[in-house]
Amino acid sequence: MSIKHIENINIQAAKKTFGLQHWSNGYFDISDDGDIVINNPSNKDIEPLSLMKVIKGMEDRELQMPVVLRIENILDQSICDINETFRSVIEQEGYQNDYRGVYPIKVNQQAHIIEEIANFGARYQHGFEVGSKAEMIAALSTLEQPDRLIICNGYKDQEFIDLGLQAIKLGFHCFFVIETLTELPIIIRRSQALGISPYIGVRIKMTSKVGGHWNSTTGDRSVFGLSSSQLIQVIDELKAHDMLDCLQLLHCHLGSQIPNIRDIRGGVVEACRYYADLCKEGAAMSYIDLGGGLAVDYTGAQSNGGQSRNYSLREYCEDIVDTIKTTLASYQLEHPVIVTESGRATVAYSSILLFNILDVAQFEPLSIQGNDVDEHELIKDMREILSYLKPQRVQECYNDAHYYRDEVRELFKRGQIDLRMRSIAENLFLHILHSIRDVLNTMERIPTELEGLDESLADIYYGNFSLFQSLPDSWAIDQLFPIMPIHRLDEKLTRRAVLADITCDCDGKIDRFIADHDSQKTLPLHPINLGEEYYLGVFLVGAYQETLGDLHNLFGDTNVVSIRLNDDSSFDFVKEIHGDTISDVLSYVEFEPKEMQLRFRNTVESAVREGRINARERQTIIKAFNASMHGYTYYENEEDAYQEKSNKNNNELPINQAEKQIAEAVL
Ligand SMILES: *Cc1c(COP(=O)(O)O)cnc(C)c1O
Repeated sequence: MSIKHIENINIQAAKKTFGLQHWSNGYFDISDDGDIVINNPSNKDIEPLSLMKVIKGMEDRELQMPVVLRIENILDQSICDINETFRSVIEQEGYQNDYRGVYPIKVNQQAHIIEEIANFGARYQHGFEVGSKAEMIAALSTLEQPDRLIICNGYKDQEFIDLGLQAIKLGFHCFFVIETLTELPIIIRRSQALGISPYIGVRIKMTSKVGGHWNSTTGDRSVFGLSSSQLIQVIDELKAHDMLDCLQLLHCHLGSQIPNIRDIRGGVVEACRYYADLCKEGAAMSYIDLGGGLAVDYTGAQSNGGQSRNYSLREYCEDIVDTIKTTLASYQLEHPVIVTESGRATVAYSSILLFNILDVAQFEPLSIQGNDVDEHELIKDMREILSYLKPQRVQECYNDAHYYRDEVRELFKRGQIDLRMRSIAENLFLHILHSIRDVLNTMERIPTELEGLDESLADIYYGNFSLFQSLPDSWAIDQLFPIMPIHRLDEKLTRRAVLADITCDCDGKIDRFIADHDSQKTLPLHPINLGEEYYLGVFLVGAYQETLGDLHNLFGDTNVVSIRLNDDSSFDFVKEIHGDTISDVLSYVEFEPKEMQLRFRNTVESAVREGRINARERQTIIKAFNASMHGYTYYENEEDAYQEKSNKNNNELPINQAEKQIAEAVL
């Protein structure tokens, strides 16, 4: 058997273990060298790009881990996919109007994402959905051609409405979607005052229930949308002002990440009923906006579970087009323009969080020493267990080991066993558990109580990232993201681990992972090689994560790198954004970095006065403090950090620098 062949077996195994083909949507694969590669989305014949090559480029540019990597081509491809699929389905079904997509800015409002969607989306007249004045301004300043839709949701004050009316004057198709009755009089008043006729939409409160995480956006108690009696009030009010021709759009949003296609169909039927009756009331209806909800298959299970979806993009488009067509057929109405507001599905695939592993805790026993003559009876009993360990008695051995270990701990508390003896017992205990696991591996049926043994022996891999900053949904709602090593996949995965982040919070851990069509409690990984970085990637993180992240433990924004794959298999770093410095995050929580430096200088100066340090030492300390202030909030590689900030004190522990500095400065 050739070595090459053995490598392939490991790569095959890795693909299966991490379910890569199921969630990657064709964007990612593993190369023969065992690296994760990005396929060029627009041309499958071009050689894929290795993520390790990208990391090398980051190193050369002194961009430290963790990094959010954005791949522009994948973002473009998502815009292209949704528009082209709707187009093709519309043609296939003989639907008599167009599709217009809008991107909801709240899903990822980073300037570079918004600009890229505005630029690439121009060919499809892809517009924006905005929910605040700030998002409105972002939309207006990036959409250069005014033939595009801007859908305004959220609470709108006079300033917001004036901005929208001016946009209409410029030629934008800017819709005010009425969510509450209070905004209608302002719209009427301001449009009359400015002499600009508004485009008006109404958001309806859906009664259709949908499954998944975010299902509370529908139903009678939904905070969004108008009830049917409020809708009638809007119609009457517009009629009274002779403005019913301004009401042209029906808006609904069933919720985000809708896993079941049946729920989408049900929602569309309900929306069409409203649409038809609004036409009957005399409104000049011509747009039906179905909101977001197109799900991302994070687990790759293709199921109606909350983190998956049981439909393809094509089926989604077909169901919408077909349902509108059939439902409206009986009313003999003209087909409306179909609008959707896909956010998650548009941006999720285009970002990857990359980080390195800082340390590993293993729960391996040390080699056991021969027995001592005056060893405690309990320890002798523990040694005994190994002599009767066999498949028929695993449960008994497991119970015995726990019993003796607990007894030893009890005696230690009472001062009857010393620390040295206790450590022998603890080590023996670990040794027994490992031996039990080896026996379990040979057995077909594992006793229920012992099923969790693997997890309790799993390694802890400490990653250089903050869960709260970079993967908030993993913490807040147990969202699963595909996580895997991005290199060495031609090597066997011999370790099982859970992940801990760099915050000092016990919630900062990940202990559920995607498995082939399922989830698992440990992640298969490679052992760390001394003196070599080990990199993991968290995939599909483009939607919501960057925006919802917080400054827990004062870990700030990560570095961000945008790349573009070229047609000659090269790639460009189109953008690099350095993450927050310590001084940045401190000022976010109202510290005044300049003042902190000054105060610290006084502290150091008085140490000189009191003779604890000399003036030269003073200089070194102050320089280190100032250099740290301008450093990255995450764990920095000593050498690189040294290059970057020449006079920095090295030997940093993975503790939070920013917090440390607060402590120092306030003292
Ligand atoms: C959040 C939101 C969206 C985006 O939903 P996705 O599921 O991310 O596509 C669209 N429309 C409205 C009104 C929203 O509030």
